Amino acid sequence: MNSKLKVFVSRKIPSLGPDLLRKEGFEVKIWPEERPMQQDELIQEAKQADILLSLGENKIDPYFLNECRHLKMISQFAVGYDNIHIPEATRLGIPVGNTPDVLSEATADIAFGLMIAVSRKFFFNHKMILAGGWGSFKPTSHLGQELAGKTLGIFGLGSIGMVMAQRCQGAFGMKVIYYNRTSNELAEKQFNARKVSFDELLAQSDVLSVHSVLSDETRGLFDRQVFSKMKPTSIFINTARGGIHHEEDLYEALQNKVIWGAGLDVTNPEPMDKDNPLLQMENVAILPHIGSATVEARDGMSKLAAENIISYIKSGVIPHCVNPAAIE
Ligand code: NAP
Repeated sequence: MNSKLKVFVSRKIPSLGPDLLRKEGFEVKIWPEERPMQQDELIQEAKQADILLSLGENKIDPYFLNECRHLKMISQFAVGYDNIHIPEATRLGIPVGNTPDVLSEATADIAFGLMIAVSRKFFFNHKMILAGGWGSFKPTSHLGQELAGKTLGIFGLGSIGMVMAQRCQGAFGMKVIYYNRTSNELAEKQFNARKVSFDELLAQSDVLSVHSVLSDETRGLFDRQVFSKMKPTSIFINTARGGIHHEEDLYEALQNKVIWGAGLDVTNPEPMDKDNPLLQMENVAILPHIGSATVEARDGMSKLAAENIISYIKSGVIPHCVNPAAIE
């Protein structure tokens, strides 16, 4: 192994990955500040490194990639890589690794938790207690919806969607329908999941949970017109990327009772403004993008991001590579 290879890590991450890299003879430098790097700072550091270990907050656009075309690879500490211009990375021969599966349980737990929190208005009721508004028992107020036997619609049934389906079927006996570009045969076998058209997904889902990637095809997809095709009793959950739904249209759909509730772990933009009216709505639960924020998931991501680098340098193979064409 070439002991001189330098890895720059753009944010402090769990030490498992950096320790592993150092053990394998890499020189590791970590951005020490508790804030995301500006692009010019990232370029400056990456120019002095051979490999970049990046986060989703880094803007890795064609400008960055051309400035840093010397990079041997980029190892992303995330499963999503919509912050990286993959076609340009591929054109420049820079392979990109990511960290799937190790965060699926953690992220699905957040989708599952948001679904229950919305269906029983957890966050609203908590805020009401804080404001001194508990009051007396009221037989007809604070009424939520039960989830047993309802239909779960998954938009983007991949690794995280599979765990969400398992949770919902196991806990509530929910029927599973999904919309993907290709069939998920394992889900059809394991959960009796049924692939439906996009319009059917909208019309039939009691809970519609988004788990797809953010891409040109999905950006802004859930807008006023799409919400208008959902059931007025439905709950919309998004733990994938905030760019997939149109936030003002979502507010309008909730306000006008076009849909019943919403749970978000991702917003657009992030961080969400503290005065955003969605935060005050009764049937809404919002979290600050904490899908993968467990000790287990973050350790797994750190280790996998390092293993992608070590394997590529040792054997030319990246176990989780999003653009294998860059290596060919
Ligand atoms: P995955 O296994 O690759 O699953 C993504 C699914 O999306 C696939 O089933 C894919 O199926 C589907 N898909 C892609 N493009 C689509 C389109 N245009 N229309 C419909 N379906 C489409 O990825 P994952 O590990 O489950 O992660 C999913 C996403 O979750 C990530 O991309 C990331 O953005 C987000 N995420 C968020 C957090 C968080 O902290 N909140 C944590 C982890 C991940 P087809 O290719 O067949 O269409």
